[in-house]
Amino acid sequence: MSTEMHPSRWGNPAEAAALPESTRGLVELALGVRETPAVEQVSLPPVGLADDVLSELRELLGDDFVLTDDEHRRVRTRGKSTPDLLKARAGDLTDAPDAVVRPATHGDVVALIELAVRHHIALVPFGGGTSVTGGLVARREGYAGVLSVDLIRMKGIREVDKVSMTVVLEPGLRGPEAEALLAEQGLMLGHFPQSFEFATIGGFAATRSSGQSSAGYGRFDTMVVALTMATPQGTLEVGSSPANAAGPDLRQLALGSEGAFGIITAVRVRVKALPAEKVYEAWQFPSFDAGADAMRHLSQNGLMPTVLRLSDENETALNLASQSEVGGDSAGGCLMIVGHEGVSVAARQALVGAALGELGGTRLGEERGAAWAEGRFHAPYLRDSLLDVGVLVETLETATFWSNRDRLYKAVTAALTEALGEKTLVLCHISHVYETGCSLYFTVAAPQADDALEQWLAAKARASQAMIDADATITHHHAVGTDHKPWFAQEIGEVGVRILRAVKADLDPTGVLNPGVMIP
Ligand SMILES: Cc1cc2nc3c(=O)[nH]c(=O)nc-3n(C[C@H](O)[C@H](O)[C@H](O)COP(=O)(O)OP(=O)(O)OC[C@H]3O[C@@H](n4cnc5c(N)ncnc54)[C@H](O)[C@@H]3O)c2cc1C
Repeated sequence: MSTEMHPSRWGNPAEAAALPESTRGLVELALGVRETPAVEQVSLPPVGLADDVLSELRELLGDDFVLTDDEHRRVRTRGKSTPDLLKARAGDLTDAPDAVVRPATHGDVVALIELAVRHHIALVPFGGGTSVTGGLVARREGYAGVLSVDLIRMKGIREVDKVSMTVVLEPGLRGPEAEALLAEQGLMLGHFPQSFEFATIGGFAATRSSGQSSAGYGRFDTMVVALTMATPQGTLEVGSSPANAAGPDLRQLALGSEGAFGIITAVRVRVKALPAEKVYEAWQFPSFDAGADAMRHLSQNGLMPTVLRLSDENETALNLASQSEVGGDSAGGCLMIVGHEGVSVAARQALVGAALGELGGTRLGEERGAAWAEGRFHAPYLRDSLLDVGVLVETLETATFWSNRDRLYKAVTAALTEALGEKTLVLCHISHVYETGCSLYFTVAAPQADDALEQWLAAKARASQAMIDADATITHHHAVGTDHKPWFAQEIGEVGVRILRAVKADLDPTGVLNPGVMIP
């Protein structure tokens, strides 16, 4: 796997591919196709940091770990939302950091923070760079410069406790690296977001990420039992026991703090034994409502599989059209993926299968389930191919209680369609399931207007307001970043905002940590 992503596309450059002819035909029919010209990569803004600061940084970290060349700065500019990609494609590199610095230890991070406070430099912690909410775009006005704090050297497993089934991981480990190290011990974490290939342990913690197997293994924030975070006021160490009643849970203040309160340098996570068996199967439901009701039934009756996802009618139709169809009458309805992982899954598979059958599901079999598992990290590459042919495509997500699901679904779909026009395709799936509710994950495709960035920002604003107006969250797992701040403020209200600002003011009084990110 490549170690760096393409600066203006998703993922491993070797896997980038043109739109398959069959999909291109469909897209042409539904949305229209126009080639978007590649823009010459413009040069980066000059490095704004004073020479004496750069010398101090080099003394601290070593020459090799203070990088001011264009290439490193370019790939540490912003994240991977569609707006980020559109800006990069347009040659806009105005958010490039002045330098990329690579600490190796907690002590390095502490010293970096001290230096940043002294020189009033903004610090942007950088894990995998997969943020889709502007979490890597710190405010630069009023600062002596911006440093991307690249955690790529902090990739160790520090401690393995097989009795308690916990391990201490460093923040710079990417998903596959962490799982490979754990697999050597017969262990696994089980956190598989779609950005798995590039996103890191520190990023998962800082954004409260949720993976595709959350039904079985939980969200990342439920996996973290302890963590270490360096702040300008000293180091926060929390989580000395599996559970406690010692005041509010301060782990939750660090989880989801998106670099605004400190830099997470280690997390102790609970782990599982590597599953001996993995089975993924596909089911078909006559409608999104019927499938959602079946999911609710499973979650409220102790029948949760490891993976549980449901596509709506539109997403199911597109999915079937763009892949070789499996199963005779599988077209139509709604596709559900149900995965079981564990020591021996047959009994559970039978129980869940019987329930799904009773609830109106038709089993399509394991072939389609296996195809889902095989292609589970590939969809983001398709976004680039669609952007290449003039299709605006982006995803957004939210969550609500079961009783409010349909209202939210309709409100967001209507907002997107009204904002982007009749030709808009809005696809949705239920991506994460709880006893009390679920998350809705939307994919939107529309013909690109001349100013695709403005077009999307307007649509996103409409959809975001629709989420809040429908009493749902602005984000179930993508975090706040800079993009969600106005709606986050509405979601948590005035008192919530005051609490966050008070913590920020106390821990980071000079505001060097990811300024402008997360705190409304
Ligand atoms: C194609 C694609 C698919 C995605 N799929 C999913 C998905 O299925 N589930 C999901 O939850 N998310 C998903 N995301 C969003 C993203 O991958 C997650 O938010 C992920 O957790 C970010 O991890 P990262 O290492 O890339 O962090 P980065 O993008 O590098 O950083 C994210 C934020 O956290 C801060 N940060 C990073 N490391 C630290 C640290 N050690 N200490 C303090 N702050 C830190 C950064 O400053 C930034 O604000 C997807 C993104 C893309 C582009």
